[in-house]
Amino acid sequence: MDFNLSPESKMIVKAAKDFCDREIMPMAEQIIADNDYPFDLLEKFAKARMLGVAVPKEYGGVGSTHLNIILISEELGKTGTVCAYPMLMNNSTAETIHHWGSEDVMKKFLPPLCDGSAYASTAFTEPATGSDPTALTTTAVPDGDDFIINGTKRYITGGNKKGYGVFYVRDEEIKDQKGNVTAFIVDKSSEGYTTSAPWEFMGLEGMNCVDVFFKDVRVLKANILGERGNGFRILLRWIAGERIEQAAYMVGLGQAALDESIKYSKERLVRGKPMGFMQGIQWMLAEMKTKIDACRLLTYRAACIQDEGEHIDTLSSELKIFVVPTIQEVTRLALQIHGSYGYSKEYKVERLFRYAAHAGVVASSSEINKTIAGGALLR
Ligand SMILES: Cc1cc2nc3c(=O)[nH]c(=O)nc-3n(C[C@H](O)[C@H](O)[C@H](O)COP(=O)(O)OP(=O)(O)OC[C@H]3O[C@@H](n4cnc5c(N)ncnc54)[C@H](O)[C@@H]3O)c2cc1C
Repeated sequence: MDFNLSPESKMIVKAAKDFCDREIMPMAEQIIADNDYPFDLLEKFAKARMLGVAVPKEYGGVGSTHLNIILISEELGKTGTVCAYPMLMNNSTAETIHHWGSEDVMKKFLPPLCDGSAYASTAFTEPATGSDPTALTTTAVPDGDDFIINGTKRYITGGNKKGYGVFYVRDEEIKDQKGNVTAFIVDKSSEGYTTSAPWEFMGLEGMNCVDVFFKDVRVLKANILGERGNGFRILLRWIAGERIEQAAYMVGLGQAALDESIKYSKERLVRGKPMGFMQGIQWMLAEMKTKIDACRLLTYRAACIQDEGEHIDTLSSELKIFVVPTIQEVTRLALQIHGSYGYSKEYKVERLFRYAAHAGVVASSSEINKTIAGGALLR
């Protein structure tokens, strides 16, 4: 067992940190003000070799590891911006297309997702459900060489950005209720595809989560991902990887909260001395550091096991159960250390606290993950 990163991974961490300092930090405030990021953001990620990380080079990818994706995600988390999510969405959607797609599908969709000219989405959630595949109401009906899709998807990240999305839809020809979800790759500029304005959240400004409206949208049968009726399996595999990437983003948020707290503890004077001289503050810092270390180790372990090709359903659910509330508590401690300044928008920790709140419900809820991990123990 080796707890050290390889020389390649250390280089990736450094490259990701330099990228964040050079490209992301200068636009951080603007993203928040605009509730959006510049369209060329993805091309910048592509130039820095941060897209298609786990996709083989022959399809335009980098041919690297999941561990390296989560190292990048962690660095992006430290910026306290939303920018990790477009990068992660392109990486995970491209990897899913590579895992399940036919040769034609891979050749058609992977290069634009890897070179940053197309924004990816992955869409399951609908107004009535985000957890239950049997409750989907968006439908696909075959018609010649096409399927015709109708319905509404909710909270679709990047659903309003030019590119392609994997949409999970009820396949009307399949009668088995449990196996009637099919995954379609949809061009987001198709006729009949429209979107709402982005939802406004308590954090993650610029996330670009929209409702997507399908009105008789035609999708080629050739654009089905994997087998018809196998959509829920495809979704479960994608979402397990997404949980690991999200955990890495959370570790980054937590580390930024600790870094800010250490800085503040040295600068703020109490009784004429830097506040950090007080044991109570030192204890909070120590607790934060220990919690972040534990979360980081669990997250790296899950990514390494994913790279070995093992199943990650339960491991990634454990990350939801442990990493999410633990990092949320770390960001709360950071607010506490900053006193009332932590509650003010002048300080980064206020934002880190709000951003950390998303992870209990996005990319499957904490409760669903307890059911996955608990059920596995009894099987
Ligand atoms: C910022 C953001 C980005 C998002 N991006 C995307 C995206 O790109 N694509 C996408 O498809 N969705 C996206 N979502 C939606 C998100 O994934 C869903 O909201 C989430 O899966 C939860 O679904 P729900 O809100 O419908 O909750 P519900 O499924 O209605 O659940 C409500 C509550 O009931 C609990 N619950 C439900 N079923 C069970 C059960 N069987 N056992 C125990 N408890 C249960 C849940 O844990 C939760 O507490 C995004 C959401 C946000 C906020």
